[in-house]
Amino acid sequence: MFEQFWVVIPAAGVGSRMRADRPKQYLQVAGRTIIEHTLDCFLGHSRLRQLVVSLAVDDPYWPKLSCASDPRICRADGGGERADSVLAGLHRLFELGASDEDWVLVHDAARPNLSRQDLDRLLAQVQGDPVGGLLAVPARDTLKRAGADGRVEETIDRSVIWQAFTPQMFRLGMLQHALAGALEAGVAITDEASALEWAGHRPKLVEGRADNLKVTRPEDLRWLEQHLQR
Ligand code: C5P
Repeated sequence: MFEQFWVVIPAAGVGSRMRADRPKQYLQVAGRTIIEHTLDCFLGHSRLRQLVVSLAVDDPYWPKLSCASDPRICRADGGGERADSVLAGLHRLFELGASDEDWVLVHDAARPNLSRQDLDRLLAQVQGDPVGGLLAVPARDTLKRAGADGRVEETIDRSVIWQAFTPQMFRLGMLQHALAGALEAGVAITDEASALEWAGHRPKLVEGRADNLKVTRPEDLRWLEQHLQR
C-alpha cells in the first residue's frame, strides 16, 4: 500500500513569454484559471497529505480564487528563481509536520493537463526507489545541435534524449539538501532532478503522456482550451 505524499506547486513566476496582462497560471481556460485545473489532479487524490503553493509575495490573484480557502492548501512566499520557490514550499511542509523521509511531488502551476493515470504511474514506479524520479517523454523529433551562426553542428542521438516534465518526486530531506547545495554553489537549476544530479544521484525517468504540457506561449492556450473541454 502506498504511503501518503505532499505536494509543492511553485507558482511565483511571471511567465513573460506569454505576453499576457497577468502571470500565466491565472489566465482563464475552459472557464477556470490554469492553476485551478492544475490543482484538481492532486486534490482528488486520497493519498494527498497537504499541498503548498509558493506564490509571489504581492500576488493579488490567488486570494480571489475559491481554492484559496481550501483547508488542504497552504501558501508559502515564493522567491526569485523557481528553485527558491520550491525550497520555500519545502520549508512550509516541514512546519506542517513533514519529515525528511516523506515523499514530495513538485509540479509546475502552469502544467494543468496532468492525467490521473500519469500521477498514479509515477507514484507506483518511484515509491520503492532510493533516489526518486520524474515524469518524462522520450524525444520524438530528430535533434540538432546548433552553432553560434545558426547552422547545424551535428545531429544528436535522440534515442537517449528525454524531455523532463513534472511532477518530480523525491524524499523531502534529500531534495532540500540538493536544492540548497546547488543554489549555494551557483549551479543553474531548472528542475528538481537537476539538483539531485548535481548532488551525484541519478533520478528515475518514468514515461508519461506528451500532452502534460507546460503553458509557455500564447498558442498553447488555444490547444489547452480544446483539450480541457473535451
Ligand atoms: O517559467 P517557467 O515556466 O519555467 O516556470 C515553471 C514554474 O515555476 C511555474 O509554475 C512558475 O510559476 C514557477 N516559478 C516560481 N518562482 C519563480 C519562477 C518560476 O514559482 N521565481
